[in-house]
Amino acid sequence: MDFKPMSGRVLPRFSGVKTFFRLPHVGMNESYDVGILGVPFDGGVSYRPGARFAPSKVREFSSLGRGYHWSRGINVFDQLKVADIGDCPTVPISLEKSYELIEKHLSEVLALDKRVISIGGDHSITLPLLRAYHKKQGQKLNLVHFDAHLDTYPAAWGFEYHHGSFVRHAIEEGLVNGEGCIQIGIRGPLAGGDDLEFVNKHGLQVVTVDDVRDKGIKGVLASLRKLEGPTYLSFDIDCLDPVYAPGTGTPVPGGLTSYEVQKLLRGLEIKNLVGADIVEVSPPYDPSDITAITAVDVAFEILCLMASE
Ligand code: MN
Ligand code: MN
Repeated sequence: MDFKPMSGRVLPRFSGVKTFFRLPHVGMNESYDVGILGVPFDGGVSYRPGARFAPSKVREFSSLGRGYHWSRGINVFDQLKVADIGDCPTVPISLEKSYELIEKHLSEVLALDKRVISIGGDHSITLPLLRAYHKKQGQKLNLVHFDAHLDTYPAAWGFEYHHGSFVRHAIEEGLVNGEGCIQIGIRGPLAGGDDLEFVNKHGLQVVTVDDVRDKGIKGVLASLRKLEGPTYLSFDIDCLDPVYAPGTGTPVPGGLTSYEVQKLLRGLEIKNLVGADIVEVSPPYDPSDITAITAVDVAFEILCLMASE
């Protein structure tokens, strides 16, 4: 199998069965390098639901995706064998059971020495993903985390696990190294100043939207910590301003532009990117589909990061 996208010049982009980037949909055992995995789960949201529908919506709009990167001068699908490896099983009425299923399913893929980009779900799904990556790597991971939110927040309604707490759990469980954690796109308001205690205590690098505007893209990229060892990238679409990505669960005004996100992703230097996710895309709140289209672009940039190592 050659793992090439179906050409839009052969079969028009609005036709055909929808897979990520019009790539072959294969079983996890096939000979691809990078598998794109749908994670249809939104049982961890605190406000607007809908991220369970992201895998199918992003598949639909990824038919607009193309492989050649203008500034990198590479065709990502010539560099990497990429495939759609379907959706992860989940249980919509149980976060606990879904965590088990997500960790187990991803662990089976990682046991085959594949890299995976997970698409869809609210941000609660990143914790079971990180559990699987940590087990596979056998050491703490670095985390490059795009988000409006710190996601280090305390329990809500008496429940520890929700979409705003995965970073705290990942550090407390020893999956992620606090000083290897870079958060980009962060902005307020917070519930209170004590929401910053966790990041200060564990030494996370927080890059706010103010930092991006004040230092510029080049200045921010130069200020990022140099990460050694296995690194995971988690991309919450709400790092973007709701003007650019309205279809999300907890929108926060004053965010990054699509172009700033592209420039930041192009400028990251990650030596050992073991996996990534794109979360918090909520199609029911995305009337123009621009959020899904932007998620496709982010997935393309992440594939290029993997191809450029
Ligand atoms: Mn988040
Ligand atoms: Mn967020």
